[in-house]
Amino acid sequence: MTIAQDTLSLIGNTPLVRLAGPSAAAGCDIFGKCEYANPGASVKDRAALFIVRDAEERGALRPGGTIVEGTAGNTGIGLALVANACGYKTIIVMPDTQSREKMDTLRALGAELVLVPPAPFANPGHFVHTSRRIAEETPGAVWANQFDNIANRKAHVIGTAVEIWEQMEHRIDGFTCAAGTGGTIAGVGMGLKAFDPDVTIALTDPYGAALFHYFAHGELRAEGSSVAEGIGQGRITANLDGAPIDTQFRMSDAAADYWVQRLLREEGLCLGLSSGINVAGAVALGRQLGPGKRIVTILCDTGFRYLSSLYNADWRASKGFAPLDAALVEPSEAA
Ligand code: PMP
Repeated sequence: MTIAQDTLSLIGNTPLVRLAGPSAAAGCDIFGKCEYANPGASVKDRAALFIVRDAEERGALRPGGTIVEGTAGNTGIGLALVANACGYKTIIVMPDTQSREKMDTLRALGAELVLVPPAPFANPGHFVHTSRRIAEETPGAVWANQFDNIANRKAHVIGTAVEIWEQMEHRIDGFTCAAGTGGTIAGVGMGLKAFDPDVTIALTDPYGAALFHYFAHGELRAEGSSVAEGIGQGRITANLDGAPIDTQFRMSDAAADYWVQRLLREEGLCLGLSSGINVAGAVALGRQLGPGKRIVTILCDTGFRYLSSLYNADWRASKGFAPLDAALVEPSEAA
C-alpha cells in the first residue's frame, strides 16, 4: 500500500473480486471488477478523466474553462470531480428520470444541473443534443461527447483491460458487460483481444436496447423496456464501432435484480441494476463456455446511488419489482 499524491490518481486500479453465488450457479469462476470503488463510485470516472486529459491535450480546454456533458448521471459525477480537481466548471444535462441521489451528488459537487424530459435520440430536446448546444453557446466550454468521443473507450483499452489481464494472471476465458456509450465493452474487449484473441467477448443487453438484435441479426431493433440507468443503446456509437463482440445475451430487469439482491444478501455487495445485468450475463456466459472457465464482468456503480429507487419498497412496487424481503428465485430467462 502506497500513498496517492492526488485524487485523480485514485481513478482506476480497482479491485477484482470472486463472486461466490454467481460462480456456483454457473459452475465456473466469475469475477467482478469493482468499479464502484472509484472516487465517484462508478466506472465512468475513468472515461471522465481520459476525456478531460484529451481535451486539454487538444487545447480545447483551458484553465478556468467549462466542461459540458449529457449523461445518465455517472459520467457527470466523474466529470464534476475531475473538474473540481483541475479548476474547471461543469454543466451537466441529464434526463429527469434518473435517480435523485445522482442529482443531489452533482449539485453537491457544484455542477450546474440542467434536467430535461426523456426524449428519443432523433428529438432535438434529447439530453445529448441539448448538451452539445449548451457547449456551443458557452464561451470557453468543451463538449465531452462521451458517446462518440473515443477517449472514452481508450480509458478501458489502456486501463481497465490491462488491469483485468494482470489481475487474472493472464488466464481469462470470457468477459461480458452491458453498453451505455459502449466504451467499456468495446475498450475492454479490444484490450483483452490484443492480449489473447481467444477470450470470448459477450455483450449483455437490457431490454429496450437495440444492440442484442444488431449483433445477433445485423439490424438495430429494440424490444421491451428496462429501468436500469446508464445502459441501453439504440445506435452504433463511435465507441461501439469495431467492438469485438463474439456473442450476446439479453437480460430482463428481473434477472438483474435477482443477482443484485443475492449479492447484497449473501456477499454484502450493494450495487446498481446495471451490475446485476452484467452478473446475469456472466452467469449465462459461464454456463455456455462450460465448467472451470474464468469469466470477468463489471460492477459498474454503487447501490447507495439508488437507495430512493432500487432499494426503496414503494419505488420497487411501482415498477413491478418483487418486495425486498421476497424469497429469491432465479428467473428462467437468466438461464
Ligand atoms: N452502468 C452504469 C450505472 C452507467 O452509468 C454506465 C455509463 N453510462 C454504464 C453501466 C455503461 O458504461 P459505458 O458507457 O462504458 O457503456
